[in-house]
Order: sequence, then structure tokens, then C-alpha cells
Amino acid sequence: MDPIRIAVVGMGKIARAQHLPAIHGNRAFVLAATVSPHDPGEAGIPHHASLDSLLAEGPAVDAVALCTPPQVRYDLAAQALARGIHVLLEKPPGASLSEVAALEAQAQKTNATLFAAWHSRFAAGVAPARAWLAERRIDTVKIVWREDVRVWHPGQAWIWEPGGLGVFDPGINALSIATYILPRPFFLKAATLSIPANRAAPIAADMEFRDTAGVSISMDLDWRQTGPQSWDILVETDAGQVKLSKGGAVLSLPTGTEHNEDREYPGLYDRFATLIRGRRSDVDISPLRLVADAFLRGRRETTDAFHD
Ligand code: NAP
Repeated sequence: MDPIRIAVVGMGKIARAQHLPAIHGNRAFVLAATVSPHDPGEAGIPHHASLDSLLAEGPAVDAVALCTPPQVRYDLAAQALARGIHVLLEKPPGASLSEVAALEAQAQKTNATLFAAWHSRFAAGVAPARAWLAERRIDTVKIVWREDVRVWHPGQAWIWEPGGLGVFDPGINALSIATYILPRPFFLKAATLSIPANRAAPIAADMEFRDTAGVSISMDLDWRQTGPQSWDILVETDAGQVKLSKGGAVLSLPTGTEHNEDREYPGLYDRFATLIRGRRSDVDISPLRLVADAFLRGRRETTDAFHD
């Protein structure tokens, strides 16, 4: 079978750190081109400053991985899908729910694959946590996602703009895990969003969810954490506590702790190849819907101005 010729669009932090190595390590794909307005690209790989230019002048591609900020993702995805090119959307899949719905409909029409990728779902502890929790009574869930924005997002202006999600940019990863490992749907009851006086997006959020059986799920999101960072989900069950830490990489069960090899992005690309070969799409918008609900239903508080 010929490898899938893929272009990486948006050569920023995540494209270089994760997408390129995952593509080079997967025989189902070959990196055919890169696209980015300012980045110079990779030695020996055709590079274009825009998707327009790649589509007009080639080389031909079968798929694109859109690693840009979310605010520009819709136009790029629509342009690719219109030509029957398969699309991987980095998380979050868009800057609004409606644009993702429009892309899903377009993918169906053009018979191209649309993959809304949630990389954290491929973290080593996530699938075993889901399997373990499926057989237990869940009593409470606590999500603590506290990191230092200056360390993880230095100078990323887009993340503070409308559609950039602020602290929900990492927080949506926690929600992508929670929506996958918990056995029932859950929804927002209350939220407080703390927004710096000089920014458009929150730096912290406190949220309270309930699942359809009444189980309480709390979420503490904060970008002002210095010192040790927390990316933890704690689930109290009838058989003891389950803790997923390090963003889903480490799973602690009452019976012991599992550390497995990191396969987030390799797992993502295996899934993308399977979807393309099977001419299927995978567009789960539930994490983005919960974030949208926080903006819809949450109380906003103004907090200290933030300077990089
Ligand atoms: P980033 O470092 O700011 O990179 C984004 C890149 O997109 C920029 O380098 C820019 O390229 C490019 N770009 C902007 N507009 C474009 C357009 N119209 N066409 C083509 N390229 C365009 O951001 P990032 O941290 O990689 O994040 C990108 C996405 O990945 C976000 O949705 C984020 O949530 C997600 N993500 C990030 C991480 C992480 O740890 N950083 C982890 C997982 C997922 P130029 O420099 O050439 O202008």
C-alpha cells in the first residue's frame, strides 16, 4: 500500500516536538511538505508559506495535519476537504462548535476523513483507566490541572485572544480524558472564570460538573502555578482511589502503579491512518462542548493583568 502523503501545516511548537517525529516514525505516512508563513521548514522537504500555495503548486498531498492556532483552522480545513484531502485537526478542533459541525458535514460530502485529534486520550494510562472504571461505582471525581503559563506558552499571543481558550487550552486535554474514561456523560453546573484585566481569555477556572447519575466532578484549572505542576485526575470508587497523573501517562490503581511508554502522538497517527484507510471520520466534540458551556454559563471575574 502506498504511504499517505501528508503535509504539516503550522510549523510551531507542537508540530516540531510531536507531529514530525510521529510521522517519520510511522510507515503509513510520508512527510510530503510543510506549510508555515514564517518558519523555514525542514531540509529536503518542500515548504510553502501558505496552504493556497501548496495546493496550487504542489507537491500533491493526500492528507494535512493542521497544527496552527485554532482561530485559523476552519478555513484551512475547509480548503483541504473541498479537494478531498484528509484532515487531522489538532486540539481544540476549532474556535467554535458550529465551524466543526460544518467541517464534519463537508467531510461527509467529499468522502474525506476528518479526525478531531485528542492527543491526551492516547496517553499510556488512559485506556487502562477507562477499562478499570467501567466496572466500578464512581463516587467523586476531582480534576486538578495547574501549570505555569510562562513555562509552557511563552509569547503565544493567540492563546489569550478570543478562540484561543486561555487556560482551557491545556484544560481541554483533561476534559478529553475525563469524557473518555468516565462511564456516563457529564455537564456543567457552575463555573467561575478568572480573566486578567488586559486579556480576553481566562487564566484560571473553577468548575463543578455532574454526571447523569448525580456524581460530582470538580475541576481546578490554573495557569499561575509555579513549582511542581499538576495534571491529575482523581476518581474515588467503591474499590478505592484511581489517580491518573502526568496528563494521563501514569495510572495509580489500588493494586499498584503503571508507567508505560509514551505513545500519544504515535497513537494519534496510527488512528489517523486507520481512519483514512477505512474512509471514516472521528469527530468527538464533547470536550470542546464542555468548554463552550463554561463560557456560556460561567461567571466571569476580572483578575490581575498578566504580562509575559
Ligand atoms: P505555536 O507554537 O504558536 O505554533 C503555531 C504555528 O502555526 C505558528 O508557528 C505559525 O507559523 C503557524 N500558523 C499560524 N497561522 C497559520 C496559517 N494560516 N497557515 C499555516 N500556519 C500558520 O502553537 P503550538 O503550541 O504549536 O499550538 C498549536 C496547536 O496545537 C494549538 O491548537 C494547541 O492547542 C495545540 N497543541 C499544543 C501543544 C503544546 O504543548 N504546545 C500540545 C498539544 C496540542 P509561523 O511561525 O510560520 O508564522
